[in-house]
Amino acid sequence: MFANLKDDTSIEEILKNHDLKSLLYQFSVKQLAEENIIFLDEYHQIKNFIETKDEDLQNDLRIKLNGLFSNFIEDSSQYALNIPDATKTDALKRWKEQTTKETPLSAIFSILDETYKHVRDLLKTSSILPFAQELKQATKNAIKVVIIGAGFCGTLVARLLDKYKAFQVVLIDRKPVFESTPYSIMAMVDPDLQEKILLPLDNLLKNGVFIQGHVTKLRSNSVDVNGTNIPFDYLVLGMGSSYKSGIKAQNWSVNYRKKNYLESFEKIKEAKKILIVGGGTGMSMFTT
Ligand SMILES: Cc1cc2nc3c(=O)[nH]c(=O)nc-3n(C[C@H](O)[C@H](O)[C@H](O)COP(=O)(O)OP(=O)(O)OC[C@H]3O[C@@H](n4cnc5c(N)ncnc54)[C@H](O)[C@@H]3O)c2cc1C
Repeated sequence: MFANLKDDTSIEEILKNHDLKSLLYQFSVKQLAEENIIFLDEYHQIKNFIETKDEDLQNDLRIKLNGLFSNFIEDSSQYALNIPDATKTDALKRWKEQTTKETPLSAIFSILDETYKHVRDLLKTSSILPFAQELKQATKNAIKVVIIGAGFCGTLVARLLDKYKAFQVVLIDRKPVFESTPYSIMAMVDPDLQEKILLPLDNLLKNGVFIQGHVTKLRSNSVDVNGTNIPFDYLVLGMGSSYKSGIKAQNWSVNYRKKNYLESFEKIKEAKKILIVGGGTGMSMFTT
């Protein structure tokens, strides 16, 4: 664990490695500088697309850069970065003067690049190393919590425990996404909702891990998933319920689930008459 972290490991290398990135996030929480890492991580993720010729992607990047600017740099922004006034004033000035719809993407990136470099240089890998050692020791003694099911119950418990070093969380679900069941009925009449109600689980936890797989066996102190035995100190069962109809996903593939939604949408679109029995959840389908 963290064996590949050396004095000269760059922040970019850390951001590319899942374990090291998670370490960096935990370090930032301790330093009360979480916003710095969120900014570095988000900027680093989109930086690689700077040369893209794809117009849709370019538009998405403009929106994303705009979001980074308003969330991290603008006055009274939600996650204002702790950067010197001069760097901030310069970024604000350039942003006001140089960002129009016609401004090339590379020019917009260059405004935030200065801020990125500044925030990155505040972090010294050498200062993270002692923290990594400390964490390694703490993880050895951490309470292992396995959570089966990443629905409302499982994800809530996982996110709450994940914040504490005292717990090592393993969240397991056969689906790679969290699906908001109450909205599923609306997604059958509005296919655009699909993307909003199927949320990837890989990045949900910062310290713990998500495993996609079907738990096939429970023992008093371990579970079996994907042919592997995972031990626990505590087990949370959040497997929910199932329905005879397809209202909850029966299949584990996201593409198949999306196909299900589209098929229901087509059937509903073609129907001449629809009878909704029950004015509770049924009404949400009617009003969508
Ligand atoms: C149409 C509809 C509308 C609703 N509206 C509301 C509402 O407005 N308000 C409200 O409070 N409730 C509503 N509900 C109920 C609500 O959706 C459920 O109470 C809630 O989803 C239960 O959450 P859960 O985490 O317990 O289980 P689930 O959301 O069912 O999640 C269980 C998870 O466990 C996983 N799983 C199961 N077995 C295994 C296994 N062996 N290995 C790995 N993974 C496994 C499943 O893949 C699933 O992701 C609605 C339900 C429906 C169907």
